Amino acid sequence: MEILKKRILEDGIVIGDDILKVDSFLNHQIDVDLYNEIGKEFKAHFKNKKIDKILTIEASGIGLACVVSQHFGCVPVVFAKKTESLNLDKDIYHSEVYSFTKKKSYKVMVSKRYLNPDENILVIDDFLANGKAIIGLESIINQAGAKLQGVGIVVEKGFQGGGDELRNRGIDLKSLAIVDSMKNGKIVFREEI
Ligand code: 5GP
Repeated sequence: MEILKKRILEDGIVIGDDILKVDSFLNHQIDVDLYNEIGKEFKAHFKNKKIDKILTIEASGIGLACVVSQHFGCVPVVFAKKTESLNLDKDIYHSEVYSFTKKKSYKVMVSKRYLNPDENILVIDDFLANGKAIIGLESIINQAGAKLQGVGIVVEKGFQGGGDELRNRGIDLKSLAIVDSMKNGKIVFREEI
């Protein structure tokens, strides 16, 4: 997605060799116009799939998934929660996710009321690195007996391998920008998208 890649080159900040900060437009301050274009791209890719619900993970996935949903007929958006609270149902699906940016594992949880057997699920998230967050959501979808129809990612860091692992397992993964290297602060995108 050319406008996304251009924006990453203009406004992205590389931290070390493996963290990309894009919080001026993607996941802290949000460019809603860009989110809308992202939604169009995902719809173009997944147009032949029946999508009943979008599943994401808090916090930055929520806004993104809501805008994307508008391109899929405003299907409900469900987000996996990372903290237990009195508000959360006791009857939950959950899985353990190792966070590469926080260097620790955390639990992700979805109330059993909001994922049903045979529902067709599109997973949306802002970043894909080692793939642990997506694998955690896939596990929750499987626990519910629902069907993972595809995964839409805004920025995949290809050099961390999670995306290729998911593709090799036959998951329909669409990443709008794949960064293959960030050595010495220079962002290099994978060519074929
Ligand atoms: P994974 O589970 O694929 O290893 O990591 C995905 C999650 O880690 C994303 O949901 C995102 O929150 C966070 N993440 C991983 N790498 C980056 C990065 O370079 N920049 C930002 N902003 N978030 C990242």
